[in-house]
Amino acid sequence: MSTDSAEKSALIDIEMFQSLDPRTNDVIAEFPVLSPQDVEEAVANARSAATWWGSLTFSARARHLKHWRQLILERFDELAGLISHETGKPMADAMLEVVLGVDHLHWAGKNAKRVLGRRHVAPGMLMFNHTASVEYEALGVVGVIGPWNYPVFTPMGSIAYALSAGNAVVFKPSEFTTKVGQWLVDTFAEALGDQGRHRSPLQLITGDGRTGNALCQSDIDKLAFTGSSATGKRVMSACSDRLIPVLMECGGKDAFIVDSDANLKSASDAAVWGAMANAGQTCVGVERIYVVDSVADRFIDLVVDQVSKLTVGGEPDADIGPITMPAQLAIIERHVKDGMRSGGQAVVGSASSIRAPYVKPVVLVDVPEDASTVTEETFGPVIVINRVPSLRVAVERANASRYALGATVFSKRNGVRAAQDLTAGMVGINSILPYAAMPSLPFGGVGGSGFGRIHGAEGLREFARPKSVAHRRFPPLLNPTSFSKAQWTMHALKTLVRVLYRW
Ligand code: NAP
Repeated sequence: MSTDSAEKSALIDIEMFQSLDPRTNDVIAEFPVLSPQDVEEAVANARSAATWWGSLTFSARARHLKHWRQLILERFDELAGLISHETGKPMADAMLEVVLGVDHLHWAGKNAKRVLGRRHVAPGMLMFNHTASVEYEALGVVGVIGPWNYPVFTPMGSIAYALSAGNAVVFKPSEFTTKVGQWLVDTFAEALGDQGRHRSPLQLITGDGRTGNALCQSDIDKLAFTGSSATGKRVMSACSDRLIPVLMECGGKDAFIVDSDANLKSASDAAVWGAMANAGQTCVGVERIYVVDSVADRFIDLVVDQVSKLTVGGEPDADIGPITMPAQLAIIERHVKDGMRSGGQAVVGSASSIRAPYVKPVVLVDVPEDASTVTEETFGPVIVINRVPSLRVAVERANASRYALGATVFSKRNGVRAAQDLTAGMVGINSILPYAAMPSLPFGGVGGSGFGRIHGAEGLREFARPKSVAHRRFPPLLNPTSFSKAQWTMHALKTLVRVLYRW
């Protein structure tokens, strides 16, 4: 939906919502809550744009996406400022997000032809008189529903890949970060020039969960959802009405393992950043740490020392900004209280560290594994550090969660083995969240963290369907698929198969 139509909507008394700066509650912008009819209109516009966009070559689409990338880079500070304004996150966090978003946009545009373009495959011995090829066709219109915690990086993981594959996209950003979503859609249209002004293949719809629900029930060909596991279930259920396939990027409770031979200084540095960056509001953020007994005290001291130096507040250069979604504060408080009540020891902070809209860092040690602090996604600057007797037990505890998104292991000798044993979509060894910054690596979860993949070749194929073509080049020696075949044909085939595949 364009800015013009948003202004018109305001004039005809439809429900509006506001996007606020969570630090001050200042109103940033107002948007209409779009109805199911509005959503269908946006999907119809996207479908008509898809006819043009999907007919372009991979190279032509890549050129348009490059213009968009260049525009984003020209206005880098404007976008980072807007992200910071709407989410409250410090500028460093906002800038990192733009960097990663641009990196993915570049990779998807550049690699779509290699991954999705037609390629020949071996026809096999039995069909040697044919050539065979497979290519990936765009699905049509993809609905993208995004969260507020990374309003550029996260939806870009679907939008850039879906567009590169030749689809049009209808994007519903979170109601908390709609202005950032609008910025992305407007700059893409601007990068397209006349065509973008006429009918862009990236359409915006604004609203809350009701609008998201309407998108799930509209005439789309796939729905890419990023958000909590609870909403993910509702989205799947709504999509099932029309048998719309879904990609689910849901919540996590990521574990971070510290082995006895780990470099404790870099492990503690990585753990603190992984848990506290973006105020802990990261799907792959560090929420549980399992540290081997022999190094636990030293590791905890290092974590406490680093965490105590972090600054919290609304200044652009603070280390930790506000909690963007006010409702999350009660969850964070419940988890901190539950962790302490069940026997965990607070070595930094306590429930009084929560002063809306900010949460000062909390570090809890030796929290029982069945406390909500360990089992549920906290999504705040809270770390649980639990001691374990060995790396093996650390892996077992890490795997005991219903979530399985990312994981980290710090170990000099056993990192690769632990990575193999961990149940997770992505594992970083001696490095914090490296996979998020590698566009060639698929990103996604297992179990309660969802299914399907964004990023990488798998992320491109997620938004395309394979089409197989087999082409006969000359008549076969044996033709079993004809009623006029010679009587001996099947016997000859049987003999041939025995010779070919016996060993
Ligand atoms: P959320 O509350 O589940 O919302 C996600 C999106 O779904 C928002 O745009 C929301 O709209 C929309 N929505 C709400 N109800 C809906 C419904 N019934 N039908 C369709 N859409 C609906 O999640 P969030 O609080 O925005 O984001 C935080 C969560 O996202 C965390 O759990 C985090 O782990 C997860 N996350 C996962 C990944 C990943 O890659 N796996 C990445 C980032 C975040 P409104 O906001 O307008 O209500």
